[in-house]
Amino acid sequence: MQSLPDSPLSLWLDTYGEYHPQPPLEGEIEADIAIIGGGFTGLMTAYELKRVEPTLRIVVLEAKTVGYGASGRNGSFAMTVVGLGFGVMPTLMGVERFKAAHRYMMRAVEELDALIEREKIECERIRPGFLRVATTKAYVRRLQEDVERMNRFGFSDIFWLDQAEVRQRVNSPRFLGALWEPRLVLVNPAKLVRAERDLALRYGAEIYENTPAVEIRRERRFRILTPRGKVYSEKLVFATNAYTHLFPLLRRKQIPAFTYMVATEPLSERHLESIGWQGREGIEDARNLIHYYRLTPDRRLVIGGGPVGITFADDLNADRNESAWRHLEEHIRFLFPNLRDVRVTHRWGGPFSVTIDLTPAMGYLGDRRAVYSVGCIGHGVSASHLNAQTLRDLLLERRSELTECPFVRRRVIPWPPEPLRSLIAFALRGYLQLEDWWYERELRVAQPEPTGAASRF
Ligand SMILES: Cc1cc2nc3c(=O)[nH]c(=O)nc-3n(C[C@H](O)[C@H](O)[C@H](O)COP(=O)(O)OP(=O)(O)OC[C@H]3O[C@@H](n4cnc5c(N)ncnc54)[C@H](O)[C@@H]3O)c2cc1C
Repeated sequence: MQSLPDSPLSLWLDTYGEYHPQPPLEGEIEADIAIIGGGFTGLMTAYELKRVEPTLRIVVLEAKTVGYGASGRNGSFAMTVVGLGFGVMPTLMGVERFKAAHRYMMRAVEELDALIEREKIECERIRPGFLRVATTKAYVRRLQEDVERMNRFGFSDIFWLDQAEVRQRVNSPRFLGALWEPRLVLVNPAKLVRAERDLALRYGAEIYENTPAVEIRRERRFRILTPRGKVYSEKLVFATNAYTHLFPLLRRKQIPAFTYMVATEPLSERHLESIGWQGREGIEDARNLIHYYRLTPDRRLVIGGGPVGITFADDLNADRNESAWRHLEEHIRFLFPNLRDVRVTHRWGGPFSVTIDLTPAMGYLGDRRAVYSVGCIGHGVSASHLNAQTLRDLLLERRSELTECPFVRRRVIPWPPEPLRSLIAFALRGYLQLEDWWYERELRVAQPEPTGAASRF
C-alpha cells in the first residue's frame, strides 16, 4: 500500500506544542478488535468499546501521528449538517430518512459536547451557534426556504435573521441575511483528537503511531501486516476516512476530495472592532462549494472552502493548492474589506471522504467481522463521534437506535473505476460550481462595491 504524503501543518497542529507519539508496533500481537486509523473515528471507537467491554483487547494502528488526517486539520465546526445541507438532502435522501439523519446529527453534536464535558477535555470548546449567511439575494431566497422547510419538518431551533440582525452580530457589508442554528460547537481539533488518544489509552486501548497497515489478509482471523509487525485480530475496523479507497476491499465506496484553509495572524483591536463578531459564531455561506470561517480564541480568522480539489485514481498529492489559498485570501477581503492588510500565517489543506450520493455510510464488509465508516465529507467532526458508538454497536452485534439510522447498512452506490470515476467527480463538481455561479450572478453585474472590497469572490 502506498505511503501517505507529508502535508503542510494546520494552524492547530502547528500551534499544538510538543507532541510525543506512541511508539510504532514491533513484532506480533493479538487483538480482539484492530482499528486502522487514529482520527476521531478510530480513537473514539476504541474508547466506546473499552467503556462498555473493558476486557476486550483493542489495538489502534495510525499510519502517521494522531491528527495527521482530517481530524487534525479541519475547520473545527461540530454541526448538524449532512451532505449538501438542508436544501438538497431531503430530495436526495427522501424526507423521512433526511429527518432521521438530521436527528442523528443533532445527537452527534450533543454527544460530542457531553463527552468534552464528562472527560474534561481541554480543546478550547465554545458553543457560539451557527450562521449560514446569504451574500446575494438569490441566496436569501434559498436560505429562507431552508428555514421554512426545516421548521415544517419540526426542527424549530433553526431561524431566519434579516440583514440588520446578522450585521449586528458580524459586520460584513456582504451579509444580506442568515440562517441561524444555536446548536454548533467549535473546538481546537488537534487538541481534541490528541486528548482522545490519551483518553483511549487511559481506558486501556493500545495505540501504535507511525504504523501503517500495509496489507490485510482475511483468514480465520485478520492478519494485518505493518512495516515491523503483525496484528492477528478477530475483528477489524476501517477508520481510514478519505484514505479508505487504498484498501482493495473498499476501493469503490468513497473517493477523496480536497478542501483548503488559511489562518491569519491574530487580529488587532482595531480590526476586531470593525467586524464585530463578539459572539464568535461559526459561519458558512450558502454556496454548494461553501466557504467556512471562524475566529480562534487568540483572535485569528480561520477560513476554508471555495475551490475543491479532485485527483486521479490513488493520487493523494493535493494537500497544497496555491490558487485555492489565494482565493481564500481574496475572499477575506471580499467579506471584510477592513481586514485587507491582515497577514496570513498558515495555509493547509486535506482530503475529505465522498460517497457518490454525498451521504455517510457505515456497515459490515462481507460477514460481521469487519466494519467501515466513510463519506462524512466536510461534516465529520460531530458525526465521527457518534459514528464511533454506532460502529461499537455493529461490532458487538447489538441492535440499537444507532444501528437503525439511515447511514447504516445502506446500499452504497459504488464509484466506477477510472477514468469514469474522475469524469463523474469533475461533472459533479462542475455542476455545483455552475449553480454557485448562477446564484452569484448579481455580484457580476455593475454595482458599486462596498468601500475597499476586492472584486473577486
Ligand atoms: C481541511 C478540512 C476541513 C474540514 N472541516 C470540517 C469542519 O469544519 N467540520 C466538520 O464537521 N468536518 C470537517 N472536515 C471533515 C472532518 O475533519 C472529518 O470528517 C473527520 O475528521 C473524519 O475523522 P476520521 O477519524 O474518520 O478520519 P481522519 O481524521 O482522516 O483519520 C483517518 C486516519 O487514518 C489513517 N490511515 C490511513 N491509512 C492508514 C493505514 N493504511 N494504516 C494506518 N492508518 C491509516 C490516517 O493517517 C488518518 O490519521 C474537514 C476536513 C478537512 C480535510
